[in-house]
Amino acid sequence: MLTEDLEHLKQRIPLLDYLQRCHWTARRVGPHPEFVGLCPLHPETRPSFYVNARKNLFFCHGCGRGGDLIRFVELSQKVSFRQSVAYLQRQIPPPADADLLDQAAAFYQLQLHRHPEAVQYLQQRGLRDPALIEELGIGYAPGGNLRAHLTAKGYGFDVLRDIGLIDAQGRDRFCRRVVFPLRQQGRLVNLYGRSVGDAFPHRLLPRAKGGLFAWESVRQCSTVILVEGLFDLAALWQAGFRNTTSALGIHLAPAQFDELGDAPDRRVYIAFDQDEHQAGQRAAQALAQRLEGAGVAAPILHLPAGHDPNSYFLSGATARDFAASLQAAPRL
Ligand SMILES: [Zn+2]
Repeated sequence: MLTEDLEHLKQRIPLLDYLQRCHWTARRVGPHPEFVGLCPLHPETRPSFYVNARKNLFFCHGCGRGGDLIRFVELSQKVSFRQSVAYLQRQIPPPADADLLDQAAAFYQLQLHRHPEAVQYLQQRGLRDPALIEELGIGYAPGGNLRAHLTAKGYGFDVLRDIGLIDAQGRDRFCRRVVFPLRQQGRLVNLYGRSVGDAFPHRLLPRAKGGLFAWESVRQCSTVILVEGLFDLAALWQAGFRNTTSALGIHLAPAQFDELGDAPDRRVYIAFDQDEHQAGQRAAQALAQRLEGAGVAAPILHLPAGHDPNSYFLSGATARDFAASLQAAPRL
């Protein structure tokens, strides 16, 4: 195997993600993306197993062993280098997945303008700019014909069901939902659906939570606005705040946190919902503390009573109003 392929393999399965899937628990240490926990390779009571998430390396001060993911699998499964690589290759989702998701997203995108209820829903949420709708790749699942479309392209029933696009009866699981494709490094990794009717509002394919939405377009920014939902993001992009990214929720996966914290001179404005249960605000406080701990300034945005960024713009706020609330956001 070429060195290049080995590097690619390690990038596809970050060491920290792999360990966490194996139920390794750790705490973060210092300003760098470094974690410490009990060594999975030898019995111990005091944590001495360190993982550097950026370098993708581990080292245990207890048993003196260290290295990369391939080395870790060799040691933990007591297999050879070659067996470890083969094992890890089997852990990578086949590329067919990405192609299938591309096909599904393209199908949904085509349907959007054929279904007035979908376009109406986007307008209701304040999304009117056709160029932005196109850029975000937003589509619509009218229900009914996705399966026929994809089987005609050669995808079997089992494949569609296992990835979560259809249910056991062959029905489109995104039925009557506006669909956003979620990309990482240009690759489609998941789909997010928002119901236009009464059905359960949010839906994602059952895949591990990865990076932040549209991260590639904001990672060079020294100021980033972090929002909960994709409609918050769309509203802000539409108003000219292109430095906005979304966590798709209030609980960040380790990979998402590392993306935000990867530049110490960055400022991350946290603009979560001000819901009645305060869950968004509590999560914002906790995240701000973690980011500040990692050396990243993280002011928390307070929008007028009960608003999230999407509803704030819908209520008539302008880009200037929003800029003023950024200015007023206090740090911890
Ligand atoms: Zn050890």
